Amino acid sequence: MFRSTRPSRFAVAIIFVIALAITAISDAKAKLNAKADFQVVLLGVGTPVPFMHRFGPATLVVAGGKYLLFDAGRGVTQRLWQDKIPFGRIDHLFLTHLHSDHVVGIPDLLLTGWLTSPFARRKGNFVVSGPAGTADMMKYLTMAYAWDIETRIKDQGLKRAGVTSKATDIGPGVVYDQDGVKVTAIAVNHGEKIQPALGYRIDYDGRSVVISGDTKYHEPLAAFAKGADLFVHAVAAAKPELIASAKFWQVILDHHTSPEDVGRIFDAAKPKMAAFYHLVTLTNGKIKPPSVADLVKRTRTTYKGPLTPGADRLRFEIGKDGVKVMKPGK
Ligand SMILES: [Zn+2]
Ligand SMILES: [Zn+2]
Repeated sequence: MFRSTRPSRFAVAIIFVIALAITAISDAKAKLNAKADFQVVLLGVGTPVPFMHRFGPATLVVAGGKYLLFDAGRGVTQRLWQDKIPFGRIDHLFLTHLHSDHVVGIPDLLLTGWLTSPFARRKGNFVVSGPAGTADMMKYLTMAYAWDIETRIKDQGLKRAGVTSKATDIGPGVVYDQDGVKVTAIAVNHGEKIQPALGYRIDYDGRSVVISGDTKYHEPLAAFAKGADLFVHAVAAAKPELIASAKFWQVILDHHTSPEDVGRIFDAAKPKMAAFYHLVTLTNGKIKPPSVADLVKRTRTTYKGPLTPGADRLRFEIGKDGVKVMKPGK
């Protein structure tokens, strides 16, 4: 559905300049900060489009020593290991919904995370919670990879526990409450035929982070995220020429939230920091996608508060004195 084009020399030059700028402002100690007790890493802010700079949706929340992952899109393992986080360190995976872009990284995380290598090392079960269908998906994934699982148990002596999923179908309400870290799910509106879909709020030590999941404009999210320290919301946009070119572009947009509407939700919730993730910027290859600057500009018509356009590996430290935004390290 998406056609790619070769980047022009001009585009390559621009990318080079941007890359230099990013290098200049990157923080050498930008991997996880051992001293920060509440952090969020946008591991991937992409969509089904196979961009190198935006991997599939995956958001890591580290709170009170718990490593909670929200969605596991394409490339989640590469992004985790870029920050030297072994896959086995993930305590719990939460899924917003079962669209493939949010779950295709699961087999990699499950199976590669079971190995004994430094990047893996899962000892306990693979714990996952998500909307109806999650437990079935995990059961069938395990069946699909039975050859690998049985062979490695026989050949390498790996323990079955590390590749056994403990999957639970969940709905709205408190879905996790351990050692002061609480996760609450909310039903969101991703479209009439795309149900169920969830957003999440993570509370720890008087601070909170909210992740919208994939949703259309959904007013209850604003109350759910009221006063949150960090509110991460998905966003979608396309150039008017593209929308006019074929009907299905509007269909995609109708499953998501426009920048203006994301601004309305942010304005009502008034988080200490707002950020985009899951940047649905549509293109057919000929008509260019809206830029991140376009998204910000349109959001600014309805929201004037703190705003960070999301990017892969951007990290937030949720402190008692505010939210710090940290550029990714190398
Ligand atoms: Zn999606
Ligand atoms: Zn979706």
